Amino acid sequence: MIALEKTKPLIDTFGRVHNNLRISVTDRCNLRCTYCMPEEVTFLDKGELLTFEEITRFVEIAAPLGIDKIRLTGGEPLLRRDLPSLVKMIVRIPGIKDVGLTTNGLLLAQQAQPLFDAGLRRINVSLDALDPGRFRQLTRRDGLDQVIAGILAAKRAGFDPVKINAVSIRGVTEHEVAPLAHFAREHGLELRFIEYMPIGADAWERGKVYFAHEILDQLEREVAPLAPVDDYDPRAPAMEFQYADGGGRVGIIASISRPFCMSCNRIRLTAEGKLRNCLFALDEVDLKPLLRGGAAPQRIAELVRKNIWEKWEGHEINTARFIKPLRTMHAIGG
Ligand code: SAM
Ligand code: SF4
Repeated sequence: MIALEKTKPLIDTFGRVHNNLRISVTDRCNLRCTYCMPEEVTFLDKGELLTFEEITRFVEIAAPLGIDKIRLTGGEPLLRRDLPSLVKMIVRIPGIKDVGLTTNGLLLAQQAQPLFDAGLRRINVSLDALDPGRFRQLTRRDGLDQVIAGILAAKRAGFDPVKINAVSIRGVTEHEVAPLAHFAREHGLELRFIEYMPIGADAWERGKVYFAHEILDQLEREVAPLAPVDDYDPRAPAMEFQYADGGGRVGIIASISRPFCMSCNRIRLTAEGKLRNCLFALDEVDLKPLLRGGAAPQRIAELVRKNIWEKWEGHEINTARFIKPLRTMHAIGG
């Protein structure tokens, strides 16, 4: 175990304290969601990816600095061989309180139980459409039935809640709000809409975002009345609501219409070991040579602190100053 003292929190110049680390375990994917990545893409070679030992070493360095919440993502994380081993390695690191996973669900039916048994407790499955044609149009692949089987397998394995993430895109989401909501209510899932962000390969424009208030209006019209949850946290990325008829919860991540940059507590580690202090960061710090070369933990910890200290105010998507990062979402880790 790496001995690092917990001295002061991972803070930036705006006073934001960081405890949340998203780790991409691969840039590969078995879907090609149009809002996330191009159809043709060159993936990293296996040797370029951080090994499980290198990822674990980074978490061991980050945990004493105040990182206590981890989410594994990608690319499609379930394409990384033997992911439950990584989960086991991370959950036992002192200080780590919460390990989650975001997946497209295609391979989840086979992996839900081993992941749960390894100690994973939180799972988000991305599913934007229940209509097979629309699913194919968005993902450029088939697989809706496998995703649904994966979601149900996650419930059976014991994950509670299982959250469903749906990207909110005008022209698509209007048709899917009610079917997704009914599906979630029927199976005891927590549905969360994420406003479409400019981080994919296709041309983004504001007009393509189906906004939080529109989703809420539609849910109330077509499904059931909603009220903010009792433990509503205005600083949390997801605005959370509960159905008045007891039908469970719905969340909306309004990254465009209600950016949560000023309460952001996240950093990201890409599959090849680049540290990013924002999803939309234009600069990153290459930690792989240090993790691979056996650099002193204090040196890596200092780079993490410096990178966070230098974090900008926010993504500025709603201004003319916004610059889209060169990496698309699958290569960052959503
Ligand atoms: N492959 C996994 C999945 O799809 O869940 C994990 C990686 S994916 C990049 C993580 C999340 O980012 C997914 O929920 C996906 O819908 C979301 N995402 C990707 N591109 C997005 C965009 N342009 N705007 C909003 N969310 C996006
Ligand atoms: Fe793959 Fe997830 Fe991106 Fe879709 S959103 S292409 S499933 S990484």
